[in-house]
Parts: sequence; structure tokens; C-alpha cells
Amino acid sequence: MANLADENKFFADVCKNFDSAAQFTNHPEGLLNQIKACNSVYRFQFPIRRGNGFEVIDAWRVEHSHHMSPTKGGIRYSEMVNEDEVMALAALMTYKCAIVNVPFGGAKGGIKINTKQYSVAELETITRRYTTELIKKNFIGPGIDVPAPDYGSGEREMSWIADTYMTMNPGQLDALGCVTGKPIALHGIRGRKEATGRGVAYAVRECVDVAEDMAKIGFKAGLGDKRVIVQGLGNVGYHSAKFLAEFGATIVGLCEYEGAIYNPNGLNVDEVFAHRKNTGSILGFPGATDFRNSMEGLEQDCDIIVPAALENQFTELNIRNIKAKIIAEGANGPTTPEAELIFTEMGGIIIPDMYCNAGGVTVSYFEWLKNLSHVAFGRMENRYAANSNANLIATLENLTGKTILPEHRLMIVKGASEMELVNSGLEDTMIHSYHEIRETLKVKPGTQTLRTAAFVNSIDKIAVSYMNLGVWP
Ligand code: GLU
Repeated sequence: MANLADENKFFADVCKNFDSAAQFTNHPEGLLNQIKACNSVYRFQFPIRRGNGFEVIDAWRVEHSHHMSPTKGGIRYSEMVNEDEVMALAALMTYKCAIVNVPFGGAKGGIKINTKQYSVAELETITRRYTTELIKKNFIGPGIDVPAPDYGSGEREMSWIADTYMTMNPGQLDALGCVTGKPIALHGIRGRKEATGRGVAYAVRECVDVAEDMAKIGFKAGLGDKRVIVQGLGNVGYHSAKFLAEFGATIVGLCEYEGAIYNPNGLNVDEVFAHRKNTGSILGFPGATDFRNSMEGLEQDCDIIVPAALENQFTELNIRNIKAKIIAEGANGPTTPEAELIFTEMGGIIIPDMYCNAGGVTVSYFEWLKNLSHVAFGRMENRYAANSNANLIATLENLTGKTILPEHRLMIVKGASEMELVNSGLEDTMIHSYHEIRETLKVKPGTQTLRTAAFVNSIDKIAVSYMNLGVWP
């Protein structure tokens, strides 16, 4: 978690990573500076009624890059949030969208509150007022800037935002596309909630499936023998752990702010989740060793570590204690540039945040498309596909005189559901982008890390957009 000393470091760290990559591109300095800069930083305060008096809430929305519209990014609800952090996260959104070919600029929002200290009614007031402030300054809209969930916010907050926007923009046909991560009942999309974690699992799977790269760090290819520690049992951490286990990995450690647990024989993520819900703590899970100091949990024996909480978790002070050979960044900015340098020297691989956690915004893009097209994916073709597959089977059965087994028939005949289409689009995106980044690392070996290679790809793509816009000659 960012402390006060780090308050102005996160955006500088993102710029540092950008600069390390920029030297491997051929763009003029002015263009690079334009890409790097935060275009619009809106800081505002508003009052809410609390108890017998009022309280002033600090809030931000930062639109980092307008090379594409709308801009896109979540809203963080946290008492630690500050302007530098929102700027850094907005910048990461720009590079993230570019890396996975999602046609948005980057943005991020922040509301400085500890959500646990407010009632649901107060949270609703805050969210609706925040949205109104964005509307007043033209900082929200399906073609302008489209918020989404982030740390401390979820479907409930997104539905308040959508409702406020629709109320203030009556008759605007595409109004629902003003925010993503909405509940299904409010035209959200199936698979959005688990998308970031599912994307993290695809990213890790792609990385460990390349035998040549794994041999360099003394690993066999594949997830089957990999032991994983996940930090954070929130939406991203929980789903990353769940899908990694589904893909064959063993979850050996889970860390939360109250402590960490470790079991070399594996942990059942759902059981741990239920245990935490029932007891209020991750500690005391049957069969696992407890660590009251959560950071100690990260230093246990494993092959892969997934930080899925907040930024600045791995620094030059603790990175040498990490036993994992692969860090898969589910969170944004969990590894400082100094820590990355040391970890790379130690022979480790970092799957960078801007690619690794891009599953969320990828599926947000699908949700936005669904809202603009006003029809759910699969609705038009689902039945057609099922009927035509059934005809094909009938023809084959007639020609061969053989009958297909009922369970096989069921599998072949059905058309794709919205969820299946979303997951297929997400999987394809994560596979394609990984190999695009890896290719850059191969053809430009000076880049040295997946992060630098990913930045090179992003910068190149954004530069092309600026040139296409005619902004740059
Ligand atoms: N807050 C998420 C992120 O950091 C999702 C953003 C979005 O879906 O727009 O990527």
C-alpha cells in the first residue's frame, strides 16, 4: 500500500518504465512527451450530509490520453487514494488498453473514503454526487469517459452511476454505455466480474506454456506442477486463484491484510473464502500454517506469486526474499522499478500489470459494445447455430447409418451463449497479446523484460493513433 513517502512516486515510476521502453522506439521526443502526459486532471470536492453536520469528500477523475475516445478506467474508493496514484493508474489504463487492442484512451477515478465507515445510503449519496460532478464537467458519457469498478467499488456502485447518468440525460439512446461493470439486470455482461482474474490465469498459462522460456528459469512447461501464492482475496485475487487451480496449478498460499496462510499440499480457494466469511479472518484455516504478518506469507516457497491487492508490494527492501520465479501482476503497480531490476537480475520473470490484468477492461469493452448495439451477444445467432448443427448431425447420421451419443450431441448442437463468447474473446485477446509482447522481447533483446517490451508495443500503437488523427505529422 502506498504510504506518505511514496505519495508522489507512483506516476514517476510509470513514467520511468515508459522512458526505459521509449529508447527502443523511433518516435520524436515531443510525441513521446505527449503520450506520457496526463491530459486532464479533475480534482474536486463535494459535501455530503453526515450525522448532524456535513463532510467534505475529496475526489478525482483523470483522463490520461485522448488519442482514442472514450477514455476508460475504474473508480477507486479508498482512504489512501491521492492525485499521484490516480494519475499513475490512468496512465496504466492507456498502456493497458493499447496492449490488448481495446480502442480506448486511459482514465481513472478516485474517491477518498474508507467504505467500511459509511452506510449504504451514504455510499449511494457519494457515488451519485460524484457522478453529477463528472456530468457537470463533461467527464462521463459513452463517447467521452466510461468508468468501471476498481478497488473498493463493484456492480452496486456502477448501477448508481448508470442510473444517475440516465436520469440526467433522458432519451440518450446509448446512455447505458456510460459505465461498465454493471449488474446483468442493468445490461451488464456475463463474465465481467470474473474477467480480470480469468485473464490473469490465461496470462500465466501462456507464459508457463512456452517451454523455451521456462527452461531458462529451470521450470518445466505447463501449470500442472506449479505452486502459486496469491495476495488478496478480493474480486481479482479470488478469481485468479480459482481459475489457476482450475487450469491445474496448486494454490499453496493466500495472503490478506490480517495475515496469510500456507499449505504446501494445496488450499481449496472456495473453502478458504467461506472460512474467512464465517470467522472474519483468513487465519485458522484447517491444515494451513498461519502468518500474522501478511508479508511473511509472500516469502514462502512457491513458483508463481500473484499480487492482486494494491501497488508497491514488492520493493528493493523485500524482493530478495521472494522465492517465486514468476510474478504475475494482478494488481496495478505492485512491483517498483527498483524491485523489478533486482528480481530480473535474480533470474525472475514478471508478467506486467498492463498486460496481466487487462482482462477486466477487455470484457468492459465487450459490455460497452453490447450497450451500444442494444442486443446481447449470441442472441441473433444462437438458435440458428443450434439448428444448423442439428441438421449437420442428422445428415451425417443418415449418410453413415451411425448414431451420435446423446452427450456428444448436446455438446455439438448448442449455439454459443453470451458467457462463452465473452470468455472466448477474452482468451483470444490474452493469448494474442502475450505472444505479441514476447515477440518484441525476442526481436529487441535490449528490452530485457516483458514490461519494457509491452511498453514498446503500447507506445508504438498509441503513436500510430496520434499520426492517424493528424495531430502529429
Ligand atoms: N479497474 C480495472 C482496471 O484497472 C477495470 C477498468 C475498466 O474495466 O474500465 O483495469
